[in-house]
Amino acid sequence: SSEVHLVARPEGEPEPSDFALVETTVPDPGPDEVLVRNDWISVDPYMRGRMNDAESYVPPFELDEAMTGGAVGTVVESNLDGVPAGTTVRHFLGWREHALLGKGRFEVVDASIAPPQAYLGVLGLTGLTAYAGLKRIAPVGEGEVVFVSGAAGAVGSTAAVLAKCLGASRVIGSAGGPEKTGRIVEEFEYDAAVDYKKGDVEGQLRAAAPDGIDVYFDNVGGDHLRAALAVLRTDGRIAMCGAISQYNATEPVPGPDNLFLAVGKRLTLRGFIAGDHGDLAPEYTRLAAKLLREGRLRSEETVVEGIGNAVDAFLGLLRGANTGKMLVRL
Ligand code: NDP
Repeated sequence: SSEVHLVARPEGEPEPSDFALVETTVPDPGPDEVLVRNDWISVDPYMRGRMNDAESYVPPFELDEAMTGGAVGTVVESNLDGVPAGTTVRHFLGWREHALLGKGRFEVVDASIAPPQAYLGVLGLTGLTAYAGLKRIAPVGEGEVVFVSGAAGAVGSTAAVLAKCLGASRVIGSAGGPEKTGRIVEEFEYDAAVDYKKGDVEGQLRAAAPDGIDVYFDNVGGDHLRAALAVLRTDGRIAMCGAISQYNATEPVPGPDNLFLAVGKRLTLRGFIAGDHGDLAPEYTRLAAKLLREGRLRSEETVVEGIGNAVDAFLGLLRGANTGKMLVRL
């Protein structure tokens, strides 16, 4: 059985040599434990932060230990009543082929709603992230105009549909390159797209939203946040979800030079961590299941095969190799 260790803390962009694939023996489950063969593991941008030795809302990964993260797998041996072999579960011991889990360390997933891996994406934390941001953090009002950065990614690919369900009349997304900007309009219900790789995010955003925007869902930070501050209308809201343009920065990154616009425009900027909004999960899951049935929400995935390619999947994610959720199938 293999697992992926962090062996060096990356400086700037992570390198393959910062990681090692390590062989271990398959463990035996103890009393009240299950042994799970992971079928899918999740790679996510926040994991870059856990590779630094810095205080944050999640502790850093330990060096020379298997990393952790979201995973979905099948119980292969069980010493737990009510959880027979064959049960599909979601848990947090990703980055490895086999996981030993005690009671309370996993949830059984309902594979009748969507394929099991959807519980790492559209029916998991990434879907809830988009919903919490648009419903609670920067609530979308009826007829409002919404801008989402990172629009072709896991969170972004669900955000436009959810914004429309919450009342948005127009949703603009930004992504890198013509293929992704094409897909967000054709497949993910965005009304217009900004290709940030062409530059002048503010000019492109103004052209797509001539009367301004009311809500900005920020996955990227940097020039996108600056552009949104410039184009937001009075009483606008920003859900500060992520800032992937600066996760590999080696020096502190200055904030937008137009932040003072927040005063005159009476803006609300609010950061959030999706895990704190688990109380929204039941209503979100009901809505997402309905939208999946209707074919409006899609379980969009980019799949990389094998634990030996998990590091490549993670490095690719940071460079935009994915559309929708980046997953590793084991
Ligand atoms: P994505 O699936 O969106 O993957 C990351 C994407 O970021 C890439 O596909 C790439 O798309 C884009 N990207 C990379 N570098 C840049 C750059 N310099 N400028 C603009 N875009 C860039 O990941 P997620 O959907 O999982 O996460 C999206 C954001 O949400 C991240 O910032 C993440 O940290 C945050 N997040 C926050 C949570 C919270 O609780 N606050 C929970 C989950 C996610 P492209 O090809 O378009 O460049």
